[in-house]
Amino acid sequence: MKIILLGAPGAGKGTVAKVLTELDGSVQISTGDILRGAVQAGTELGKKADAFMKAGDLVPDELIMDIMKSRLQEPDCKKGFLLDGFPRTIPQAEALKTLLSDLGLTLDMAVSLEVPCEEILNRLTTRRTCENSACQAIYNVRSSPTKIEGICDKCGSKVVQREDETEEAISRRLETYNEKTAPLIGYYKEEGLLMPVEATVTDEVVKAIQDRLKS
Ligand code: AMP
Repeated sequence: MKIILLGAPGAGKGTVAKVLTELDGSVQISTGDILRGAVQAGTELGKKADAFMKAGDLVPDELIMDIMKSRLQEPDCKKGFLLDGFPRTIPQAEALKTLLSDLGLTLDMAVSLEVPCEEILNRLTTRRTCENSACQAIYNVRSSPTKIEGICDKCGSKVVQREDETEEAISRRLETYNEKTAPLIGYYKEEGLLMPVEATVTDEVVKAIQDRLKS
């Protein structure tokens, strides 16, 4: 499958993507995970992205497009991909359209995960993420805690609250989402690719996507 997952921070894009990858070997491409990995590794990209991320602002489109141009050409994308957190601006969506057309690839759909605002805030403040950049498993202290407190079930690394999940950064990220990313819903509707889905329960979202792909 070749899918874009749209939705506010905390809407469940990463969680849904991880379940979908297990179905058919499509890869999850999360620009947020790639950037956090770069920050942790102290690369040039990480140094450029760090301050934007901490503040809850978007990293400049050019940096993101450089990442995506090379990532989408890696061999593991041949089976399909789930774009999680990309595109996030109209210019990124336009650049993606050109890139996919150059690569001879067509999107199946853009799924918009819709979750009520109070639920988003609730999820973001209780979310915890594995600090190992190769894992980045997602937990929630209330709904899906680790088996041993603070330790990732999958890789044994420490599970932490992300630096951009302080109350201040969360509210900035939500503002940024409304201003820059929400217009993508209209964009993909016009492109005839939009699939809106109520996203409170992960399994229901996955089933709806599978059903749509079959039809
Ligand atoms: P995420 O894990 O998707 O919530 O992303 C965390 C942070 O990484 C965002 O708040 C942005 O600062 C940055 N980021 C991730 N993806 C993008 C993107 N497509 N465009 C710009 N910035 C991004």
